[in-house]
Amino acid sequence: AQVQQQAARLQDRLSHVHHIVGVVSGKGGVGKSAVTVNLATACAMQGLRVGVLDVDINGPSIAKMLGVRAYTPKVTPNGVLPAEGPCGMRAMSMDLFLPDDATPVLWSAPTQQEAYVWRGTMEMTTVREMLTDTVWGELDCLFLDLPPGPDRLPNIAGLLPFMAGVIMVTIPSQVSQLIVTKSLTLAKEVLPNRVIGLVDNMQGYACADCQTLRPLFPEAGSGETAQSLHVPYLGGIPFDPALAQAADRGRPFVLDYAGTLAGKAFMQLADAV
Ligand code: ADP
Repeated sequence: AQVQQQAARLQDRLSHVHHIVGVVSGKGGVGKSAVTVNLATACAMQGLRVGVLDVDINGPSIAKMLGVRAYTPKVTPNGVLPAEGPCGMRAMSMDLFLPDDATPVLWSAPTQQEAYVWRGTMEMTTVREMLTDTVWGELDCLFLDLPPGPDRLPNIAGLLPFMAGVIMVTIPSQVSQLIVTKSLTLAKEVLPNRVIGLVDNMQGYACADCQTLRPLFPEAGSGETAQSLHVPYLGGIPFDPALAQAADRGRPFVLDYAGTLAGKAFMQLADAV
């Protein structure tokens, strides 16, 4: 009965959220969070009501990248009020509940082995609670910044049967193609027909002075990987040093750089999603 009640509460909360889009990656550090933040902002700049939930519990970075790290979540009888970011974006993240940036989220368990077994369940329980307890209000799209790694995909699929789909972020290196192939194969299995597509991050270097695209990785992109797995290819986002600086400053890059090569790429991605 308790499980049914939980499911009903989650469904009720999300009945005002029109689309839920998960952002995943085969491995960490490929720019999944940076892509989530800028894609969400690009959608918000186009007039959509957007929310972002940081589900990358062990490496939360959304609050910082959106400039809301100092927000303390307010609890109301109806639930927890999310932080408000640029363009009215609503954001919730585990690190808003942590006292400082040095404190990790610990899954305490008697042994390492149990900690590992518990990790998946605990992570997903936390995510479910954050989804259910946040007062999202009416949203056109809620983006979930999901933890990296294919091993999480089955749990994620089980948690959100009503998720519209997932976007897979990768970088155009051979090493990443291997892991993204694995991840996409699994994603197709556990989320049938719900892989929205593959995005290449850091595809070329956007030269700020000449506004041309220079090569960065030897591989041109992941178009062929996407094609061979019958997954839509959503295009590439260049590496732009201003994007990394903006993320560190806590201001989404696209807000100020929509006209640059990387900015335009995010706007196009928002159209494609
Ligand atoms: P992940 O979420 O995959 O672990 P992040 O989004 O945290 O990766 O990105 C890792 C670092 O690379 C961050 O400092 C981020 O600002 C930077 N970064 C990501 N994508 C780009 C890009 N296209 N251009 C410049 N810097 C980027």
